[in-house]
Amino acid sequence: MSEMRISVVIPVYNEEANIQALMGRLLPVMESLAKPFEIILVDDGSRDRSLDLLKEFTSHPSVRVVELTRNYGQHAAIMAGFSVVRGDIVLTMDADLQNPPEEIPNMIRVMEEGEYDVVGTIRKSRKDSFLRILPSKMINVVARKITGVSMRDWGCMLRAYRRPVVERMLACHEQATFIPALATVFAKRVTEIEVEHEERFGGKSNYPLRKLINLQFDLVASFSDFPIKLIMYGGILMSLLGVCFGAFLAIARLVYGVRWAAEGIFTLFAILFVFVGLQFFALGVIGEYIGRIFREVRKRPEFVIERIYGRDGDRP
Ligand code: UDP
Ligand code: MG
Repeated sequence: MSEMRISVVIPVYNEEANIQALMGRLLPVMESLAKPFEIILVDDGSRDRSLDLLKEFTSHPSVRVVELTRNYGQHAAIMAGFSVVRGDIVLTMDADLQNPPEEIPNMIRVMEEGEYDVVGTIRKSRKDSFLRILPSKMINVVARKITGVSMRDWGCMLRAYRRPVVERMLACHEQATFIPALATVFAKRVTEIEVEHEERFGGKSNYPLRKLINLQFDLVASFSDFPIKLIMYGGILMSLLGVCFGAFLAIARLVYGVRWAAEGIFTLFAILFVFVGLQFFALGVIGEYIGRIFREVRKRPEFVIERIYGRDGDRP
């Protein structure tokens, strides 16, 4: 456990204004650690000069640049970086210097001292617009519900993972994923520490509302079948309401006579409600099966054995 190697994975998409400043701050921090380290910069199909600027840093022995064929999105880019890491502790961070690199030594210290699998971060005073913070709040609530892990800030990508957690995430081969949530599936000891947050150094955010909504969907759809359940329960509720309405009409008919309820038109409505409800229910049932197929094709491992103790037990 003595010499922990550190890897830092940074997704880069159109960050030409930030790369110089980022490396100018990150490299000294990494060198001060007195541990072997590598920095993996993943160019996520940038359309500006980012890739050229990144490549200039490869003259440094600890810097590697991964070029993707097109823009795959932040989480896929990080996964691509994960696929080539060599370190024992793997950190992720943004390229726009919103996450101060100076927090890295503290995160590594917390991880080693507490023997954590994942160290997340909470942005102490977030320097983003209200419109950017609100969707994040929603994502946090959803992520807490879905994963059952009570982390406070899921969106901050300054995070540290132990290598085995990274390997397990890679083994998932998921199309659309949300790395902080996926990591909790494979991590036992998880913690969060507070970090500073800064304004974006240069350029502008790559997360317009449209992408944030997509992220929310990725999170809900990849990690839960809540929407399917919603359809199903909605259908059951609608059917029950239809039945109640029908019963009410029948009683009213007995009490007030034939002329009540517009000569039976309302009765048709009641019947309609029951059937519409049943249709939704049927959709939900089909959805349940699709959900099962989805989980099957996703091939997320049902369990991962950490270690086997006892005679002839452990793997190499
Ligand atoms: N990013 C990426 N691919 C994308 C969008 C963003 O690799 O399609 C990177 C981006 O370069 C940055 C990080 O993901 O390093 C976070 O993006 P951004 O700062 O725009 O998001 P925000 O801080 O607004 O959440
Ligand atoms: Mg940012």
